[in-house]
Amino acid sequence: GLKKKDAKVLVVGLDNSGKSTILNHLKPEEAKTDIVATVGFKQEVFQTKTLQFTAFDMSGQGRYRSLWEHYYKECNGIIFVIDSSDKLRMVVAKDELDTLLQHPDIKDKRTPILFFANKMDLRDALSSVKCSQLLGLDMVKDRAWHICASNAISGEGLAEGIDWLTEQLQ
Ligand code: GDP
Repeated sequence: GLKKKDAKVLVVGLDNSGKSTILNHLKPEEAKTDIVATVGFKQEVFQTKTLQFTAFDMSGQGRYRSLWEHYYKECNGIIFVIDSSDKLRMVVAKDELDTLLQHPDIKDKRTPILFFANKMDLRDALSSVKCSQLLGLDMVKDRAWHICASNAISGEGLAEGIDWLTEQLQ
């Protein structure tokens, strides 16, 4: 199968969901981070021993969509980060997820997808079960997926999720 170190992981989610905070835990100390910023579009790229990570916000103007969709073709795994306390934008996250899963470069690849129901420490955070209901994950039957509650500030829940994804990529 695929060698782990060759695996490319795409980290996506709405702005403010906690992607950068999660990446800071995953990043090796010595890792150089390339933050490529163009107006309205910020992308972060780094490499660990085993995986290559590329991250960006799915929010913003539709005109940046083609910039991030460019990475769909070559990715082997996806991390989709959700702010589980942001009930108002859960429907926006669901729309983005649906669009992602319907994309021709993702649809047929059966790319495994890991969800972090992040900010689990906040008092009004929804449970991972509730998040998966609101995102309609029971309808995702064509690929392996997994959802973990996480606290990106303490790091709680992150290792469990990454272990699952790494397992899928072997
Ligand atoms: P990004 O826009 O997706 O990269 O989100 P950031 O990583 O910049 O996080 C947005 C804000 O949420 C920051 O103020 C973080 O400190 C905060 N944040 C991220 N993860 C958590 C979490 O698990 N719990 C709490 N309470 N705050 C978080």
